Amino acid sequence: MTDLTQLGVRACLAGLQAGDFSSLELTQALLQRIDALEPQIHAFLTLTPEKALAAAKNADKLRASQPDDLPPLTGLPLAVKDVLCLEGVRTTCGSKILENFIPPFTATAVQRLLDAGVVPLGKTNTDEFAMGSSTENSAYGPSRNPWNTGRVPGGSSGGSAAAVAARMTPAAFGTDTGGSVRQPCSFCGATGIKPTYGRTSRYGLVAYGSSLDTVGMIARNVADVATLFQHMAGFDPLDATSVQLPVPEYTLPESDSLKGLRVGVPEEYFIEGIQPEVEERVRAAIAQLEAQGATAIPIHLPHTEYALPVYYLIAPAEASANLARYDGIRFGPRLGEDNNLWSLFTETRGRLFGPEVKRRIMLGTYALSAGYYDAYYGKAQKVRTLIKRDFDLAFEQVDVIAAPVAPTTAFKFGQHTDDPLAMYLEDVFTLPANLAGVPGLAFPVGPDSDGMPVGMQLMGPHFREDLLFQVGHAYQLATPWHENWPE
Ligand code: GLN
Repeated sequence: MTDLTQLGVRACLAGLQAGDFSSLELTQALLQRIDALEPQIHAFLTLTPEKALAAAKNADKLRASQPDDLPPLTGLPLAVKDVLCLEGVRTTCGSKILENFIPPFTATAVQRLLDAGVVPLGKTNTDEFAMGSSTENSAYGPSRNPWNTGRVPGGSSGGSAAAVAARMTPAAFGTDTGGSVRQPCSFCGATGIKPTYGRTSRYGLVAYGSSLDTVGMIARNVADVATLFQHMAGFDPLDATSVQLPVPEYTLPESDSLKGLRVGVPEEYFIEGIQPEVEERVRAAIAQLEAQGATAIPIHLPHTEYALPVYYLIAPAEASANLARYDGIRFGPRLGEDNNLWSLFTETRGRLFGPEVKRRIMLGTYALSAGYYDAYYGKAQKVRTLIKRDFDLAFEQVDVIAAPVAPTTAFKFGQHTDDPLAMYLEDVFTLPANLAGVPGLAFPVGPDSDGMPVGMQLMGPHFREDLLFQVGHAYQLATPWHENWPE
């Protein structure tokens, strides 16, 4: 019998549909693999085997009793990043301050997939409150890269990308505020979508940087990502920034032809300091797109160099406001002396937030404080507009933009932990899309000389996830990189 853990989303759905295996068999196989690999990978913070087995049995029953009226994803197992609320299941955000938080409701994006029939396997590891690029900021210890367990899986959705690459799950939710879907996909050889801001609901996503946060999906290939994205995207009245636009049918091309497609290649994304093999692989992938009929056009996104300082003012500023609620009263355990409010705040926040979260709260509070607001936060917002305008102008000239996801492949544990700026520099190519609100699709384009995956991202105009899926799928029809997985 085939090893069920090796199947992607569409292969699982086809097998379930054909009756080759049941959802219970599939779910059991994945839970067994998770058990076997978790000691090495640590992709999960909480496993939900009872919930998963019950949902799988239920899915099998449903399939038997109403085969003609079946939710589209019935019986498909899936993992959820631990910054998304799942009713009745501990949601920690990788933080000690939420160690015992059990949300009374489910995030809309997750609920939509549950309604479509998925089986939740558990909650995946993340940097604390999604702040980081390696999962080293998780209060529960880092996840490891399945390609080489001495390397980080990327972050903050590193648990999700590691779980997908290790075939513990066919797919997993990620979130992307500054690169957290795309960068771990790049490091683990997975494929993932960071949607347009407003395309997926943020309701039930624990807020980090509210004007940047997006809920995305990580899987083995573009077609699998598109299949799931179809059901999770769309307007939600519970999120005031979700956009009331219809979600198109994400139909994918059967041919790999990209004739007529204009691919922008931004000079500012091929800078000094980038690992040479990353540039080589990405340029080779662009040449591949050309071989399939596309035209590569050099373009400029002149304000790219400001994305890093702008992001690291705006995101911490929003985070400092969002994290005010973890005060031991509204959220978090009550530490400190009785009847002493100051002690309650300082002990709860001082002891239960990790160092990176505290750093961001201090940076953000400073940037927002009277006298500095105009110089920092206000100025950053203005430059953000210039970055967005760069993209608007570029998309008058080209259909999509192709660029590396990260300047390096997966780095070693501890390599950047003493130097926050070096860690922030890992985000230099992912932050602009978040600041501009445009969608980005990351996928593997071949290994470096150590065998670690290199990722490329395609960025598109607002709400053109459909175009990114079409181009990414055409590339994957012609190339084998998305089929390579670590043993
Ligand atoms: N690494 C970036 C940060 O630390 C982005 C994280 C994210 O997208 N959640 O803020």
